[in-house]
Amino acid sequence: MKIHEYQARDLLRSFNIPVPPGRAIESIEDAAAAFKEATAGGGAAVIKAQVHAGGRGKAGFVKLVNSAEEATAAARFMLTNRMKSPQTPPEGLEVKKLLVATAAEIADRPGGGKEEFYLAITTDRKTRRNILIASREGGVEIEQIAHERPEAIIKEPLHPLLGLQPYQARRVAFDLGFKGKQVNQAANIMLNLARLFQEKDCSLAEINPLIITPPTPQHPDGQVLAIDAKFNFDDNGLFRHPDLAEMADPTEENPAELRAKRFGLSYIALGGTIGCLVNGAGLAMATMDIIKLHGGEPANFLDVGGGASEEAVTEAFSIILSDPKVKGVLVNIFGGIMRCDVIAQGIINAARNYKNPDGSVGFKVPLVVRLEGTNVEAGRQLLNDARKDIPTMQAATDLTDAAKKVTAAVA
Ligand code: GDP
Ligand code: MN
Repeated sequence: MKIHEYQARDLLRSFNIPVPPGRAIESIEDAAAAFKEATAGGGAAVIKAQVHAGGRGKAGFVKLVNSAEEATAAARFMLTNRMKSPQTPPEGLEVKKLLVATAAEIADRPGGGKEEFYLAITTDRKTRRNILIASREGGVEIEQIAHERPEAIIKEPLHPLLGLQPYQARRVAFDLGFKGKQVNQAANIMLNLARLFQEKDCSLAEINPLIITPPTPQHPDGQVLAIDAKFNFDDNGLFRHPDLAEMADPTEENPAELRAKRFGLSYIALGGTIGCLVNGAGLAMATMDIIKLHGGEPANFLDVGGGASEEAVTEAFSIILSDPKVKGVLVNIFGGIMRCDVIAQGIINAARNYKNPDGSVGFKVPLVVRLEGTNVEAGRQLLNDARKDIPTMQAATDLTDAAKKVTAAVA
C-alpha cells in the first residue's frame, strides 16, 4: 500500500523527523487560504500534486509560489491537467489533491548545486537484509545517478535484530558531508526513519530530498529537513496498523485490481492479449512462460487462489474480459484445494451471464481450458454438458497443448 506525501509528512513528524508545515486541499478555491497559512511566518509556499507517483518536479507539478494569486494559478493548473512522468501510465494521472506547504529554503552547496540528499530504507534481496541507502546527490536525478554512477550511492546494511545502529548513522552522515550540528540532526533522522520502517512494516521508507537550510543566527549550521517522502507498506502487515490502513486512497489504485481484491483474487495487469485465469502464483508464472514460449503475450494474470467460490470465479472472468486488449483467455487450473467442478461451474455461470459492451450475453473471445486435479472428471463433465453456452471454448489436454491452442486462437 502507498500513501500520499501529505500523509507521509504526518508520519515523519510523528517519528520526530522535521518537516515544514502544510496541509492538503482539494479545490482551487482553497489555495489562497492555504497559501496564507503556509506563509504566515513570511517566505514562499510550495504547491505539490498528491498522486501515487514521483517525478512531479520535472513534470511541473511542484511549484514555488509567492502570492495567493500564484498559488491559485498553480492549483488550477495541477487540478485541471493530468500529470505525466516516467512513473505514471502514458495517459498520466488525474490530480485530486494538492499539498500546500511552507517552502523550505535550500542552502547552496559549495562548488555548485543545492544541499539535497537522498535517504531510504528498504529491503535488499541480495544481502537479505534491510539497508539504508543514502546519497549526497539527492533530488530529482537520483534514478539516473544510481544508474550511471553507483559509487555515489552509500549502502549500509541494518542488523536483522538490532536495526540501524547510531555509529552507522553517524558514519553515513559524515560520508554524506554533513558538518557540525548537522551531523547529529541527519543521523537522528536516519535512526528515526529506520525505526519507522520497522514499526510500520514498510517495504520502502524514502526521503528525497533531505535538505539543509541556509545558516541563520539561530541555526548557524542550518537545519536538516525532509521535504518529500514516499512510503510503501507491506499489505500483509496492514492488519496491525489500522491507522495506516485508513490512509489508503482507493481512487489511486488500478480499478480492476481493487475489484479483484474485494473478491479475494489477485489480479495483475500486463501488456499482451491473452487473459490468464490460474490458481497459485507458481502456476501463474509457468503459464505466462509457456504462453511466451509459444509466441503469445499475457494480457494479465488473475490468480483465484486456493479456495475461490463460484461467484469469485464468475467475477474473475468479468474482470479479465473487461480489458479490451484481451483477445483470448486461457484457464489453467490445477485443482488441489480448489476443486475443478467449482471452476467449471464458475466458467459456465460467467459464460451465461457475461454482458458484452454491446449488450449481448456470452463469451466472444476464444477460451482454452485446461483442468487437472481434484474433481477433474466432474468439472469436464459440467463443461461438456454446457458446451452450447460456451461455443468459443476448446479443451486442452495439457499445458503445452493449452498454450498452443490459445496462441493460435489470438494470432
Ligand atoms: P518529486 O519530483 O515528485 O520527487 O517532488 P519533490 O517534492 O521532491 O520536489 C522536486 C524538487 O523540487 C526538489 O528536489 C526541490 O529541488 C524542489 N522543491 C520541492 N519543495 C521545495 C521547497 O519547499 N523549497 C525549495 N526551494 N525547493 C523545493
Ligand atoms: Mn522527491
